[in-house]
Amino acid sequence: MQNRRIVLASRPDGAASLQNFRLESVPAPEPGPGQLLLRTRWLSLDPYMRGRMSAGPSYAAPVEVGEVMTGGTVSEVVQSRAEGFAPGDLVAGSAGWQEMAVADAAQVQKLDPGLDRPSWMLGVLGMPGLTAWHGLLEIGRPRAGETVAVAAATGAVGSLVGQIARIKGCRAVGIAGGPEKCRHAVEVLGFDACVDHRAPDLADQLRAACPTGIDVYFENVGGHVLQAVLPLLNDHARVPLCGVIATYNTSSPDTSGVSADQLLRACLIHRVKLQGFIVSDAFARMGEFRREMSEWLVAGEVRYAEHVTRGLENAPAAFLGMLKGENLGKAIVELT
Ligand code: NDP
Repeated sequence: MQNRRIVLASRPDGAASLQNFRLESVPAPEPGPGQLLLRTRWLSLDPYMRGRMSAGPSYAAPVEVGEVMTGGTVSEVVQSRAEGFAPGDLVAGSAGWQEMAVADAAQVQKLDPGLDRPSWMLGVLGMPGLTAWHGLLEIGRPRAGETVAVAAATGAVGSLVGQIARIKGCRAVGIAGGPEKCRHAVEVLGFDACVDHRAPDLADQLRAACPTGIDVYFENVGGHVLQAVLPLLNDHARVPLCGVIATYNTSSPDTSGVSADQLLRACLIHRVKLQGFIVSDAFARMGEFRREMSEWLVAGEVRYAEHVTRGLENAPAAFLGMLKGENLGKAIVELT
């Protein structure tokens, strides 16, 4: 049995490109005692993977050149040498960008066979969902009547931040790339307003969409979006610092963003609480999060879109596209 896999061919110099990836075919691995042979069904594409392609310091070790790209997966058990698992079971794990993988049974989570959409374990019921839930509720601490703003508003994390804010009685204002995404945020996800960050008058549009200022800004982006947000922060605003995707994949840094001094001054004057966080801080609360999110999904209070690309060979292009905003909803690859 062969295993097709995508490895890191070289480290990017500036923006990543297709040349940084290589598709290879190698013999499938053999499971040892306590292990499972897995066939990947869905692969998650996430912004953090861009960081793993570079060697710089981060909160997680980089992927080495020649190694399989790292990534969350939902897989089917092909062969089991572990008690409690049988061929055909679906498991969530971290098999990476490849068709076949061996995993210790202890490192995967067996999925309920009745689960409607197993791929949601990579999104709304998985790591991005926990990120939105934990970051907004624990760090943002929104109160009913407040205004919550979030960029990348139709993406895996941002789409949930806005909807949870609405559930908590807040005004949810999205910032997204283009009119189609803004329409989706308002008409499908139920945001109160959404502004296009590519519009030349972004700052004015955002001010109009936030007539009483911003109480919680869930930061996914940085760059020119933060520049538009900063003057609108209210006294005692909270800023859960989740990501700065505008800086991840560029050879020419966005110099239109705010300077460190501007940010510090705004935080001081308005007594803003800005706190960075990594989702692993909240892994212990995954069960609690899943129960609450599942209730919201069943009640129709949360809606979730996936941006599905078919075929492992198309993963690099889909990943690069996601970094540029080509995804509407959670970016995943469905393996055939
Ligand atoms: P998304 O599904 O939101 O996809 C990325 C989106 O980022 C794109 O669709 C695009 O949306 C937006 N984007 C890219 N470049 C820019 C730019 N220069 N300016 C404005 N927007 C841009 O990804 P996720 O929901 O998975 O991730 C969102 C953020 O959350 C990322 O910063 C990610 O790193 C962070 N994150 C952090 C975690 C943590 O533990 N701290 C865990 C998970 C995610 P648009 O077209 O609307 O601009």
